[in-house]
Order: sequence, then structure tokens, then C-alpha cells
Amino acid sequence: MTEKVESTKKVKIPRHEMPCQDPQERAHNFEEVALGYTQEMAVEEAKRCLQCKKPLCVTGCPVEVLIPDFVKQIAQGDFQEAGRVLKIKNSLPAVCGRVCPQEAQCESKCILGIKGESVAIGRLERFAADFGMKSEEVKFEKPVQSGKRVAIIGAGPAGLACAGDLAKAGHAVTVLEALHVAGGVLMYGIPQFRLPKEIVQTEIANLKKMGVEILTNQVVGKVTSVDELMENGYDAVFIGTGAGLPYFMDIPGENLNGVYSANEFLTRTNLMKGYKFPDYATPVKVGKNVAVLGAGNVAMDSARTALRLGAENVYIIYRRSRDEMPARKEELEHAEEEGIQFRLLTNPVSIQGDERGWIKSLTCLRYELGEPDASGRRAPVAIQGSEFEIPMDTVVVAIGQGPNPLVTTSTPGLELNRRGNIVADAETLMTSKPGVFAGGDIVTGAATVILAMGAGKKAAAGIDQYLKSQS
Ligand SMILES: Cc1cc2nc3c(=O)[nH]c(=O)nc-3n(C[C@H](O)[C@H](O)[C@H](O)COP(=O)(O)OP(=O)(O)OC[C@H]3O[C@@H](n4cnc5c(N)ncnc54)[C@H](O)[C@@H]3O)c2cc1C
Repeated sequence: MTEKVESTKKVKIPRHEMPCQDPQERAHNFEEVALGYTQEMAVEEAKRCLQCKKPLCVTGCPVEVLIPDFVKQIAQGDFQEAGRVLKIKNSLPAVCGRVCPQEAQCESKCILGIKGESVAIGRLERFAADFGMKSEEVKFEKPVQSGKRVAIIGAGPAGLACAGDLAKAGHAVTVLEALHVAGGVLMYGIPQFRLPKEIVQTEIANLKKMGVEILTNQVVGKVTSVDELMENGYDAVFIGTGAGLPYFMDIPGENLNGVYSANEFLTRTNLMKGYKFPDYATPVKVGKNVAVLGAGNVAMDSARTALRLGAENVYIIYRRSRDEMPARKEELEHAEEEGIQFRLLTNPVSIQGDERGWIKSLTCLRYELGEPDASGRRAPVAIQGSEFEIPMDTVVVAIGQGPNPLVTTSTPGLELNRRGNIVADAETLMTSKPGVFAGGDIVTGAATVILAMGAGKKAAAGIDQYLKSQS
């Protein structure tokens, strides 16, 4: 069969949906929403792949996963091999298969997507990674040791990916993490119902098996500094401290009881298991009516978490329209199915409190879209006199995060941009300080897991090169 005939035939086969928990049920539990493909579904979906000679999907992946190769293995029923091929380029495939914005990356380049639906690459990645994780005890051959030591600050995807590649290259790696658990946003931000924490911890356990030392409760900038690490026997340092500093609206009433930053709200729930209070010591309280300000992934996670914590009405409040919402399409759809209410073209102007200092209501203005602004999106314009008040018990502010400042401000000579992000060389990710590298959200601003991982891997190559040049 010629390629063209085959592609015409395959374009007609619809993409296989992934089974999910029923929306009414899952809105009240923290179990994973998506249930994953069965073996039969995965094989059928993988067979839709055209195995293009020049696979554009690979160019859409920030870490260039060998997509046609692992998909081919699934189509042939060799799931173990599919998982192995995936791991060549991606050290956290079970994570990326769940949270990557594939629709804007690999899947957006799939030829089948031009006239029909792209291959469900993300779902296949998740399937192969999960199969590999369940069925195989990961074994590593210890590489020849270089005698060099590298300190990594921050155990998020950037730091962990960097640690893995450096360990494979034979360097001794120590990760210093501020929190009591490694994983970064994967542990404290993204909820259990989207990314089960056991998966993240399995990946971290694999890193430890490779010899990576992970020290938790180490707030660099307080217990030690980048300069001290360099003076105390480390040959290079990687900074992967992320973007964990929440932005606020700066409106009256933001200091009332019942207003959370999304960061605090999600950390209390995910990391501190607030939803199991009093079995776990950190409570997280939501009232009957909850407003989440913002419309990105963080906002969707907060809204869906509030619902699971028992709120009756959860509103996403966003000043633009649906087309401009930055959240992943799948997350938006899941939120809608679960009953999250969208108040679009609406922006809060103040929060009112009661005599005890708790939130009572939220005052908003209605908006319309005007001419495109600097971002290329149509600018929201307030409609004068459109003010209205909604009764509210809880507000979660999810309008973005900036760089964590502790390390950057305690490291003299580190060049920062005007937003406070570290400036690093595009090729090696070395900063203005020799031997100090940086990557992930602390460099790019809040971005994605796969970009952070890609940066960690790039920095590992830069560090390896630097260490060899120093011997
Ligand atoms: C709620 C939420 C949902 C998201 N959903 C998605 C999604 O669906 N898909 C997607 O691709 N991306 C998503 N993202 C973005 C993604 O998680 C981040 O881009 C990614 O985690 C960045 O990785 P990182 O390693 O740079 O930083 P982080 O994951 O933030 O890790 C940084 C680590 O450094 C530690 N640290 C900070 N300061 C210090 C210090 N002084 N000393 C020691 N350690 C320190 C922190 O505790 C943290 O563990 C989401 C983000 C959030 C907050």
C-alpha cells in the first residue's frame, strides 16, 4: 500500500478516547481522573501512526523523544521495549505522559491531525511508561566515576533531570531541596487526581538507585549558599529553584481570612494532605462558594481541588474569553464536566469581609474584548458601571508565579533579568558565575514540566563539558 493510500485510510480511524472516572463521582474524590489505555486500546491507537520517514512529531517535543520508534513497539505488542525506547530521551515519561501539553507540542505536528485527529502520543507515552514501571525492576550499571562533585539546588523536574544525566556521566551528585519531599511542583502543585504522587516517588527512587544523593529540608540561601557550596568541594552547581513566588491581584480585601494563593492552597492539599485533616496536621478550609482568579492550569487545579474539598459552587473568574484561557484544553474540559462554573469577561475589583475578618463577598466588573494588546490577544476592557457582588467564602488567587528569590538574592555576581529570572547561556546554561548553571522556571519564568526537564538535561551536558575542561 502506498503511503498516501495508507494515510487516507488511517485518517478515517478516530483517535481512541481514554477511559476516565465518571465526572460526578470523581468530583468528590482525589483518585486519578484518567484511567489509561488498556493493552488493546494502546495497540489499536499505535497502529494509527503512519511511521513517517521524517517524523515531525519529534520536532514538536522539547526533548525529542523517539516517538515513532516507541509507538511502533506498542503497535507490535512489545510494551517493555516501548518503555525502554521512551526512556532514552525522557527520564520522567510517566509524568510527561500525564501532564505535558501534547496538543501544543508533538501532537500538533502529527500529519494525521491535518485532516483528522492526531495520534494520541501522550496517552501512548503514559501507557508505555506505566507498563515499564510496573513490570521491570530498574537496574543501572554504575559508570566510571569522574571524581567530580555537583550540587543541585531544587528537586523539581529541572533539578531531577539534571541529576540523572550527571549521575549517568559518572559525577557524584547531591540534590539540596528546601521542602521535606523531593519532586517540586510535581509533588506540591499538581494534584493527586492528575498526577499520582507514587509515580513521582518511583522516578525519584530510581534516581537514588543511580547513586544520586537527595537531601531534603535544605533551604539554600539560609543553611548554605552557592558560594559556600563552591568553596566546600563542589566542582559545579546547578540552580533549579523554579517559580514558586505567587503573584497577587493587589486589590482591597486580599488580606482577609479565606484568601489563599494557589501555591499555598495546593501545597496544603497535595503535600500536607490537608484533605485528610485531622489525620494530617495541616487543615485546608473551603466554604460553600469558592472563586478562583485566573484561567491557567494552576487555576483549573485549584478549582477542581476546591470542589473535591466540598465546595458547592466553584467559579473560575477570568477577564478575557474562553479562547484566551491558557489552561490545557483537556483540563478545561475535565473542569467543565465536573461542574466548575466559568465567569468569563469578569474581573474582581475588591473583596469584602465580615466583622471577624473573613470573606463575605467578591465585587467584580464585567469586561469586553477590545483591540489586540502587546501579547497579540484582544485586550480586556472594563465596562463602566457593570459592577456586581457575589457572595463568597473562599478566594484562591491563581494569576501566576515569579522566581523563587532566596538563592538569587543570596548569590553575589549572578546576573538576573528585570523579572528576577537568572540569565544563562543559551547553549550550556552556565550563568554569569563560572561553574554555576541554571535552568527550568527560574530561568524561563513559569513554563512546563518538559521544558524544565529539557533544561535540566541541557545543563547536565553543559556541566559535563565544563568539568572535563577543568580536569
Ligand atoms: C499547580 C500547577 C500545575 C501545573 N500543571 C502543569 C501541567 O499540567 N503541565 C506542565 O507541563 N506544567 C505544569 N505546571 C508547570 C510545571 O510544573 C513547572 O513548569 C515545572 O515544575 C518547573 O520545574 P522546575 O524544576 O524549574 O521548578 P519546580 O518544579 O518549581 O521545582 C523547584 C524546586 O526547588 C525548590 N527550591 C526553591 N527554592 C529553594 C531553595 N532556596 N533551596 C532549596 N530548594 C529550593 C522548591 O521547593 C522545588 O522543589 C504546573 C505548575 C503548577 C504550579
